[in-house]
This record gives sequence, C-alpha cells and structure tokens, in this order.
Amino acid sequence: MSRRAFVVANWKMNGSYRANAEWLEAALPSLRGAHTACDVAVCAPSVYLPQLVQGLSQSAAMVGAQNCSEFAVGAYTGEISAAMLADIGCDLVILGHSERRTLFGETDVSVAKKVALAFENGVMPILCVGETLEEREAGKTLEVVTSQLKAVLDHCGIMPLVAGALAYEPVWAIGTGKSASPEDAQAVHAALRDALARVDAEAAARVRILYGGSVKAGNAPALFAQNDIDGALVGGASLKAQDFLAICRCAEAL
Ligand code: PEP
Repeated sequence: MSRRAFVVANWKMNGSYRANAEWLEAALPSLRGAHTACDVAVCAPSVYLPQLVQGLSQSAAMVGAQNCSEFAVGAYTGEISAAMLADIGCDLVILGHSERRTLFGETDVSVAKKVALAFENGVMPILCVGETLEEREAGKTLEVVTSQLKAVLDHCGIMPLVAGALAYEPVWAIGTGKSASPEDAQAVHAALRDALARVDAEAAARVRILYGGSVKAGNAPALFAQNDIDGALVGGASLKAQDFLAICRCAEAL
C-alpha cells in the first residue's frame, strides 16, 4: 500500500527567537503551498513551540516537541507533560531519540510510557529506534531495534505508531555524515515492518517508517526509493530552511 511521505525536522537544542523567525520567513512561502504530496513537521526545543505553532499556522506543516514526560501530571519539577504539548497546539513529539537514551538515561520502559501518554493526549509519537556501531558490528542490529520496538508494542500496541511514525536511526549515522546505505536501511525497515505485522498486518502496512541519520538532499532520493522508507527524520540538514525544503521536495517526488 502507498503511504504518505513524511519529513520531520529535528532542530535538537538549536535556535533562538530570531533564528527561528528567519527560518520561518525562508520556509513559509514553500510550506504554505507546495508540500501537498508529503507531510512536513518541525520539532523545536519546547520553549519555542508557541512561536512555531503561531508561525506555521497558515501552513500545512505540523509542529513537534523533542520529548515529553513519562508522567501525566504532578510533582515532577522541570518536566513537560504530553497534555501540555497538546494544550499549546503541538501536533507530535519525537520519543526515544538515541541522544535521550544515551545522554539522559531513557529506557525502553520510560519511552513506552511516553508513547502511550502522547497518544492518549492526541500528540502523535515519532518513536526512534537504532543500534550503536558496536551493536551493528556484533551483528545485533535487528535484535536491538526489534526489542526497542517490542517494548512499545507490548505496552501500548501498534495504534500510536499508525497515528505517528516509527523512525529507524542508526546511532552511528546521526550527525556523523555517514548515512546507512539505502539497501542496509531498507533491510532494517523491512524487518521492523515484519515485527509490526506480527502484531497487526493491516495496521503495519499503514505505519510510516522514517529513516534518520545524515540525510541530505543528495542521499534522500535513493533512500526514499526503497519500499519501506517512507520519509526522513532530519537533524543537521534541517537547520537551514533551504536544505530542509530540498529534502521535502525529494519526498514529494516519490
Ligand atoms: C537526528 O537528530 O535525529 C538526526 C538524524 O540527525 P542528523 O540528520 O544530523 O544525522
């Protein structure tokens, strides 16, 4: 079945009011009109989400956060709940990014709780899975990514991923300039879709599986040409509006 392409910008901890306004000014003419053949989202640091919700309101582009709390409400100083993201008009949230897993101690269990809360609150989760270089070299890629996925499926089923997306992001490819080859990425995406299909084959065919890891306009077409690669999660190349838009155009051409 054909799935609508999806390109998601992950600004990580970058940006300022001024830089964001400049990005919006550069991207809006294109985001207002052209991107009818693919879904586009911009995930910014939480403090800037209202600026993006407002700035992108006249476009079809969606706004996303990069994390939310695993708790619903209460005495959790410094946390931001999924309900709060929904309250300010945020459409989606990246969860389980490898930087959160490795630098901030997120576990499969905490990620699964976040996915469930995001979905319950109407915020689409973009669940990230991916192996380290060491795991890849040990031949453990499929074992690692399917067990990260299983933790979420066991906790809250497949529907959160039908609403949002699954992102395969090999850790060794993030921010390194070394993308996975289209064939290697496709093999992992196909294995992830098989794992989803073991839960619900019809739903699995609807889940968008994005690739993330040094995607640029130069390598995007070959990645997007693969059967199970439905778009991209883009870090570094999303910081310049024109670079990001060039990747969106590659997805539109699918
Ligand atoms: C990311 O941050 O999720 C990412 C894929 O980064 P980059 O595109 O810079 O590799």
